[in-house]
Amino acid sequence: MKIADNIYIVGSGDNGFGLTHYLDCTVYLVDVGNNQLILIDAGIGLETERILAEIQRDGFDPTHISDIFLTHSHVDHAGGAHYFVQNFGTKVWALEPTAKYVSAGSYQDTSFDRAALAGIYPQNYQFYPCDVETLIPEIPCHVGNATITAIATPGHCSGHACYLVESNSQKHLFSGDLIFAKGKIAVQNLWDSSIPEYFESIKTIARMHPQSIFPSHGPFLLNRGYSILETAERIFSMTDIPQNY
Ligand SMILES: [Zn+2]
Repeated sequence: MKIADNIYIVGSGDNGFGLTHYLDCTVYLVDVGNNQLILIDAGIGLETERILAEIQRDGFDPTHISDIFLTHSHVDHAGGAHYFVQNFGTKVWALEPTAKYVSAGSYQDTSFDRAALAGIYPQNYQFYPCDVETLIPEIPCHVGNATITAIATPGHCSGHACYLVESNSQKHLFSGDLIFAKGKIAVQNLWDSSIPEYFESIKTIARMHPQSIFPSHGPFLLNRGYSILETAERIFSMTDIPQNY
């Protein structure tokens, strides 16, 4: 589903647009030129063929997905990565410690154990590890004609990244689970969720004043994206906590 120049939604579950498996986060495809495609996150890893079908429906060849950039290690984002590695030899990238957690397939570090106990995922669900390359925060990498920069934004969980993707003189921010429409956030009762870190991360991204923001759940904003960051920053500044997603 095309949503902007060179940007498509190819996966999305109940917390989004209901395109693919109900547990998928929003999976964004960016056409970076040079016959290369990248994905931001990979979905839960169940019925991943439905993501492939969306990619094909948008007129692309899934074998051209060269790289996946993971925002964080929660399985609704990272669980599908192994499928692309196995079938297409896709390279997967993330900040540390996300790269370590996903490479190890750790149920504890990714908080999958807690989410499974809470009944969020099907009982027979398995999280398959895959090799993940490590990105360095703020150091741009180049794929096709695009520049992709990971910005460390812990708070929702450790190792969380937002990605600034620049191509054809356009800048887009893929915000993972940092910020959602109306300035909502996602603090969870998990070992690595941190309110003070969350506030710092919101301030970091707010300073970038992004126009377009693409969150991993719910609506995206093509203009005035900074306004949702300002809403969350204002509430945090009052020592309060923004509304949870
Ligand atoms: Zn998450």
